[in-house]
Amino acid sequence: MKIAFVASEVFPFAKTGGLADVAGALPKVLARLGCDVKIFLPKYDLIKEDKYQLKFIESINIPIRISGIERSAFLHKSNLPDTEVEVNFVDCPHYFSRERIYTNNTDEDERFIFFNKAVLEIILRSKWRPDIIHCNDWESGLIPFYIKDNYNSGFKFKKTKTIFTIHNIGYQGIFPIDTYYKAEINRQVFNSYDPNPSNNFSFMKIGLLFSDVINTVSQTYAHEIMTSEYGAGMEIILKKKRKKVSGIINGIDYSKWNPLIDENIPFHFSIKNLNHKEKNKKYLLERFNLKYNVKVPLIGMISRLVKQKGFEIVAEAMKDLIKLNAQWLLLGNGENQYEDLFRSLSNSHPEKVASYIGYNNELAHLIEAGADALLMPSRYEPCGLNQIYSLRYGTVPIVRKTGGLADTIKDWHEFKKSGNESGTGFSFHSYSAHALLTAVRRAIDTFCNKNVWKKIQINGMKQNFSWENSGKEYIKLYKQALNKKA
Ligand code: ADP
Repeated sequence: MKIAFVASEVFPFAKTGGLADVAGALPKVLARLGCDVKIFLPKYDLIKEDKYQLKFIESINIPIRISGIERSAFLHKSNLPDTEVEVNFVDCPHYFSRERIYTNNTDEDERFIFFNKAVLEIILRSKWRPDIIHCNDWESGLIPFYIKDNYNSGFKFKKTKTIFTIHNIGYQGIFPIDTYYKAEINRQVFNSYDPNPSNNFSFMKIGLLFSDVINTVSQTYAHEIMTSEYGAGMEIILKKKRKKVSGIINGIDYSKWNPLIDENIPFHFSIKNLNHKEKNKKYLLERFNLKYNVKVPLIGMISRLVKQKGFEIVAEAMKDLIKLNAQWLLLGNGENQYEDLFRSLSNSHPEKVASYIGYNNELAHLIEAGADALLMPSRYEPCGLNQIYSLRYGTVPIVRKTGGLADTIKDWHEFKKSGNESGTGFSFHSYSAHALLTAVRRAIDTFCNKNVWKKIQINGMKQNFSWENSGKEYIKLYKQALNKKA
């Protein structure tokens, strides 16, 4: 099966969140399972040509029209490190030579219209015809439409099917109505397919309406997004297409997130020598000027600092959380109010709270290795990767029971006399500061009982979320799409 995998972030080239991890790992597994996979990604400025030995393909210089202006798309190629998987970098300095992957610039829509069109044009100029184009989130949402509309006028993609994976329905790529003109999509025609027409342009809605198959990254989230509480306005379309929507949990790249071989941590460990985890904790605490105390758990957070991740209730609960017998270490960046909150807590309570405001991959690994627990109180969470990394690092997740967090973390029932042997973390249901506080208290109390805590750690470390299983599920999904009638 030939798969074109289209994403706006791919690890290690460009990453802001979990999509990059998925796009850097799933294609590798698909290739191992026998697929012929090629990745397509914009060539952002931050992707350095010499670092990744990008090869400039001279023969590709494709004019692409947006708002009546033609600009050239160029192509660079490389491979996913240590694999045969080809990565195609779509280059257009006008659009992609910017400081960030995503911008608030007024031409943000044009940047990704350009990317969507360029991917199809590059494929058309090669002999390689994908059976499936796998689109990921809004940034590749127009491809399913283009495939069915103008790019099929000469039957060029006659047999190609499209899959649209929702990694986060909260980000839909919504722009003013002018964007229809820029994207060369006829609004009247489009509206005739839309059961819930709106007064704007949504990349994601187009992807959902025109792809052959839709999936998201956990089964619980697949159900949740059909409700008005979680669907962010897309629930009407998703309910209508219910039969086409499924959930496949993300896997973990255990060649990168494994405490036995992790290059970013000073002391390697596994279930057999869990005491080395404690050495990582001491190393981490020292780096942040926090004192080690065997009785005090270190609770880590690694996150984009946005409402989705539950920082509203963290902020509300903080006056009580800070009184508990725990230390806190936050790595993250995002909304000013939450960055400021953690800066000020680190100043006012330096013995209890430390923070690193920014992005730092090495530190993310170190926190997974050194923290005792990891807090993820998300308002919604399509899959979530950090809690799954935590399981492997013996770091006990404290999570809100939603989306992928509900599907990956089993609650430890410390009050039940029996039948509580398989818990891997602590979870809470209601999205409130009170429920969050109660779960954290439960974790801190349990931490005092070293034997019980070790049992929970080991339960987690034994879990296997490798990509092999999920990769096979994706292949089934591709086959399902290929069986769809035109
Ligand atoms: P999302 O994709 O919604 O941000 P996920 O839990 O699925 O959340 O994935 C987040 C990924 O981004 C993880 O690999 C995590 O380690 C990483 N990450 C998040 N914030 C930071 C940060 N500030 N520095 C380094 N890595 C980060």
